[in-house]
Amino acid sequence: MNKQIIRWFFPGVATVMFITFLIALLQDYIPPNFQEFMSNITGSLSFCIMLTLVLISVRPKAIEKKLGLTDMYEVHAWMAMVLPVTLLIHVTIRWSGIENILNFNLTNTSILGYIGLITLIVVVLTGIFVLSDTIIKKSKKLMNFKGNANRNMYLWLHRFAIVSVIAIHFHVYNVSYLLENTAFRFLTSFYTIFVLGWYFLFKLKLGRLPKYEVVRRSKISPKIHEIELKPMDGNRLDYIAGQYGFFRFVDSPVKSEAHPFSFSSAPSFNKDSVIVMIQEDGDFTSTLDDVKEGDKVTIEGPYGNFYPKDVRQSNEPMVLLSGGIGVTPSLSVLREEIANNSNRRIVFIWGVATEEQLMYYDELEKIAEKYPNFSHHIIFSNEEVEGFPHGFVDNDFIQKEGLKEYYETASWHICGPPPMLAAAKNLLKENNVTEQQANIEEFSF
Ligand SMILES: Cc1cc2nc3c(=O)[nH]c(=O)nc-3n(C[C@H](O)[C@H](O)[C@H](O)COP(=O)(O)OP(=O)(O)OC[C@H]3O[C@@H](n4cnc5c(N)ncnc54)[C@H](O)[C@@H]3O)c2cc1C
Repeated sequence: MNKQIIRWFFPGVATVMFITFLIALLQDYIPPNFQEFMSNITGSLSFCIMLTLVLISVRPKAIEKKLGLTDMYEVHAWMAMVLPVTLLIHVTIRWSGIENILNFNLTNTSILGYIGLITLIVVVLTGIFVLSDTIIKKSKKLMNFKGNANRNMYLWLHRFAIVSVIAIHFHVYNVSYLLENTAFRFLTSFYTIFVLGWYFLFKLKLGRLPKYEVVRRSKISPKIHEIELKPMDGNRLDYIAGQYGFFRFVDSPVKSEAHPFSFSSAPSFNKDSVIVMIQEDGDFTSTLDDVKEGDKVTIEGPYGNFYPKDVRQSNEPMVLLSGGIGVTPSLSVLREEIANNSNRRIVFIWGVATEEQLMYYDELEKIAEKYPNFSHHIIFSNEEVEGFPHGFVDNDFIQKEGLKEYYETASWHICGPPPMLAAAKNLLKENNVTEQQANIEEFSF
């Protein structure tokens, strides 16, 4: 199914919930005026959006498979932007006056409403300014603020969403004209219990993930660590090349929240371990020098659809286009193809900043020697390196390397940091590469 249609799945869920609320509400209640009607509508709609946002945060795998986690979080961010609008209308109509607050002249309904509202403001602000790039990515200042923020603290504040949902649930329960409306009350409880139940089960599952042990950590370039992990119970997670997981160091000097990293290993080759390549980038990744053999890690996932089933099952040409550390899923896919003795045409394009960031060049050379259908094309952007072109992966480069035909004939698999991805997306658009041909993994949410 088209990705654009799947993007509407969660807004659709919120709409269906909202319609059922509306039907239940209007069954035995006629709003006395338009203002009141608007208040009912915006209140119910806000609650449905809140529940759907919690639902997205449990990363439902069936939808993630089709949409990808990055796009799912983008839908989450945009839906969260609608929430302040619907809430503002609801609160403005329902506003019981600042004097009421100052005189503590508040009803249970309004107290619960305000608790829900204040916690929600915290949740929306932390989401927009620290946890997601979606809204702020065009502002350098805000991106800098996000980069310097204590992500762990904001993540905890973001979890107030659950307090907000519970407060709003009981807020609805205290509204006088809803007290008699059994259908409305049933729906409120049913949706809340369903969504929060799923959320807590998800959290419980995270707490009980099987542990992996670090069996090797090495530095393969001045800022890139390679870590190999073996499952302690012998059952390696079943993943597809190019996917990623959320890694949490649980029994290690570098304890942290879960971070997403792509597997660089090939599941058909590294049968009893997984390998990741991690670039030092910020608070957590800069502490990886302290990781020791024997440290324990949990992996949640796998996620991502960088190497989809139709590509895996075909023998059509494939272009693996990476920028910097975005090479990890491409290496995984390349290694998987080689482990399966593929004879498809594979074009490996890699934009690297400096020579010291070039890794596994020997491996690429060896593959090229053995597999005539494989070619690699490396370009350095920040320095001149003898024997290699200098610049960015653009139309000119593609033409000079004789790769133009692949715009039409190949599937494209692209991964890298946001600026490289933006440029790559433009390149593909200019050259009429279709959405079906392009598989993009973003290293940011
Ligand atoms: C799908 C995906 C796959 C990735 N694969 C790799 C990989 O194979 N190798 C690699 O080196 N990097 C990868 N990254 C990037 C990596 O997750 C971040 O660089 C890392 O989490 C930064 O953490 P930090 O605490 O060191 O940096 P910080 O300074 O705390 O954060 C830097 C930026 O990283 C992002 N970030 C931080 N923590 C998280 C988190 N828990 N979840 C999501 N984003 C976060 C935020 O955008 C933040 O602004 C991947 C990212 C994504 C989304």
